[in-house]
Amino acid sequence: MQSEDKFYRATITDRSEFAEDLWRIRVNPNGEFTHVPGQYATLAVEVDGKPLQRAYSIVSSPYESEIEFFFELVPQGALTPRLYELKTGDPVWMRKGAKGRFTLDLKSGHKKHLLVGTVTGLAPYVSYVRTMYKDFKEGGEHFPAGHHLYILDGASRSHEFGYHEELEKIAAEVPWLTTVFTVSRPWLEPEWKGETGRVDELIRKYTDLWEMTGADTTGYLCGHPDMIENGKGILKRKGFPKESMFEEVYWIPAKGDGAEE
Ligand SMILES: Cc1cc2nc3c(=O)[nH]c(=O)nc-3n(C[C@H](O)[C@H](O)[C@H](O)COP(=O)(O)OP(=O)(O)OC[C@H]3O[C@@H](n4cnc5c(N)ncnc54)[C@H](O)[C@@H]3O)c2cc1C
Repeated sequence: MQSEDKFYRATITDRSEFAEDLWRIRVNPNGEFTHVPGQYATLAVEVDGKPLQRAYSIVSSPYESEIEFFFELVPQGALTPRLYELKTGDPVWMRKGAKGRFTLDLKSGHKKHLLVGTVTGLAPYVSYVRTMYKDFKEGGEHFPAGHHLYILDGASRSHEFGYHEELEKIAAEVPWLTTVFTVSRPWLEPEWKGETGRVDELIRKYTDLWEMTGADTTGYLCGHPDMIENGKGILKRKGFPKESMFEEVYWIPAKGDGAEE
């Protein structure tokens, strides 16, 4: 492959499905790969001798030796149908360096972190939580004492949350994590007992409930571009200045695309 020197030939060590079009993989990069929670890696497959590459947020913590990803299949997409074919043991190209600034804000002095996501947009938050959980358990100086993460995550159906059980288990155990999962199509799932409605429509309710202001909270918005646009507007009206809002937009909608459901 061209530009092979910029990529590792990583090996998929594990794969599991959350839903028909949602899955996770773990890879061994087969080389040194460093990252901080919230960053993304670039994965590629070779097409006509060239890398076909896209960005993917890293789910795993830097404390883990393997790197984990959470994918959504875009049936008309160029890369995801190819990634979807890959099984445990298969190789996948991975750029040698991680990138991105969607990292936990430990500089502004804000102690509250409002983490809003849609489907795979939960990925960077899992990395924050896994990392803080390890630091918390070890009781060392790395744990950012006094900080509290509030996850507000939305999907159409509950099986699309992927990491719901892992996060709720940690939230039940530690004092620094609160999670709210919301389904936007509750009529398809009458047994769902959690929150309902689109995640952006719940931002106002939860920022009021959790007594968040732009002076003590940083808002993070990750995933669907429409959710991010709406979410930013709501936070802005709530008084959040620009520098208190971080965003990771996963794709630019083609003209005529419908809104998130
Ligand atoms: C920083 C960053 C982190 C990302 N992290 C993740 C991640 O953790 N998991 C993940 O699955 N994706 C993630 N993405 C999106 C990813 O990079 C690809 O855009 C996505 O996988 C689609 O690639 P594709 O080649 O299959 O589709 P493309 O050929 O790139 O796109 C085809 C069409 O589908 C639209 N589209 C792209 N993605 C979606 C989608 N999810 N739903 C609806 N329409 C879409 C595009 O706008 C385009 O019109 C991230 C993107 C960025 C910028």
